[in-house]
Amino acid sequence: MNVEKLFLDHGALLKGHFLLSSGLHSDRYLQCALVLAQPGAAEALGRELGARCAEKPDLVLSPAMGGLMIGHEVARALGVRHYFTERADGTMVLRRGFALKPGEKVVVVEDVVTTGKSTKEVFELVRAAGAEVAGALSVVDRSEGKSNLGVPYAALWAVSVPAWKPEECPLCKAGVPAVKPGSRTEKKNG
Ligand code: ZN
Repeated sequence: MNVEKLFLDHGALLKGHFLLSSGLHSDRYLQCALVLAQPGAAEALGRELGARCAEKPDLVLSPAMGGLMIGHEVARALGVRHYFTERADGTMVLRRGFALKPGEKVVVVEDVVTTGKSTKEVFELVRAAGAEVAGALSVVDRSEGKSNLGVPYAALWAVSVPAWKPEECPLCKAGVPAVKPGSRTEKKNG
């Protein structure tokens, strides 16, 4: 499966000169939700990710919002249930009647892993319940090998998305006009 092509086809990977909400600049803009918005693509990605599990877990667990669709599709592929975590007062928690049993094997699924911070917060929640983190999966790995999750981890696509300070941006230096992702100009180009 060519994941980069899938992203390009769905306008989920844009190439150009972008002003990010962080104030930094990049030559790429990635929006995983635009691929996962296509049920067929989401299902196919879920199947591919599910096949990366060394052994069948008891359940899939994802942090909301990014992990919701892909977690559900991985769970469908594996034939197990899917729970999600959400933040309450800044802490990652299970709500809605979701509860982990001691000893259950959990695979944590995300759309994108960047720093791995939220993934590790989900691990802590699993371990605090006496359950076991069997591994982690993501569609996209943006960590450049720096996430150090400490469990078996697989992603379908490893991609580097640069983020430059405006004064260090090579595209600004080259005089390329910058656009905000999602703006009218960028859509016309994409
Ligand atoms: Zn720039």
